[in-house]
Amino acid sequence: MNIILFGPPGAGKGTQTDYIVKNFGLHKVATGDLLREEIKNHTALGKKTKHTVDNGLLVSDEIINDLVAKILSDNNFFNRLIFDGYPRNLYQVKSLDLMMKKYQQKISCVLSLNVDKETISKRILGRQTCSMCGLIFNKHYNPATTKNHSCDSKYLHKRSDDNEKTIIKRYDTYLEKTLPILDFYKEQKLLHQIDGVAKIDQIYKQIRDIIVSLET
Ligand code: AMP
Repeated sequence: MNIILFGPPGAGKGTQTDYIVKNFGLHKVATGDLLREEIKNHTALGKKTKHTVDNGLLVSDEIINDLVAKILSDNNFFNRLIFDGYPRNLYQVKSLDLMMKKYQQKISCVLSLNVDKETISKRILGRQTCSMCGLIFNKHYNPATTKNHSCDSKYLHKRSDDNEKTIIKRYDTYLEKTLPILDFYKEQKLLHQIDGVAKIDQIYKQIRDIIVSLET
């Protein structure tokens, strides 16, 4: 099965994706993570996209679709993908649709995390990512402890685009470009709405129930 996890920046997509990956053996396709890796490694692609990412704007569709195509065409991940942060506009929706057909796969469901703007802001400003294992924590809601995190706390860092100014830009970009894509998936009867303001484990329970119902 292939799943799209949809929602505004800071909705908790990364956290829920990690749970889904762990429990359902899916492979994560988080275009934001892929870009951050390129930026961290100072690759040509990283240098080209850094400014756009730091300003909360969308990176070109061509770059994004190339990144996704590499994974979709890999048979190791056939029909077991979870998309986080992709697709992000109507052009990417169409491209994904075409790629799915080309590689004889399909989207099983779109899980949309509904979260208000105030919660998003709090979540983003408290967010910490471990540069060693990639796990995501939140200073206020889900702090890293010795129970849930085995790496040294020195590896916990804040994303460079997690600041007040960029949050507003990212949210506006989401409203203008990304939110409209939901209509496409609604028409295809693939859309499931999730209450994304609940506690992390309660959100995951909603998600898990939907995925399990699709498997049976
Ligand atoms: P994220 O980690 O999903 O919040 O993405 C961080 C940033 O990476 C975004 O603000 C964009 O600049 C860029 N990005 C991630 N995914 C995409 C995408 N599908 N299309 C365009 N830009 C993206």
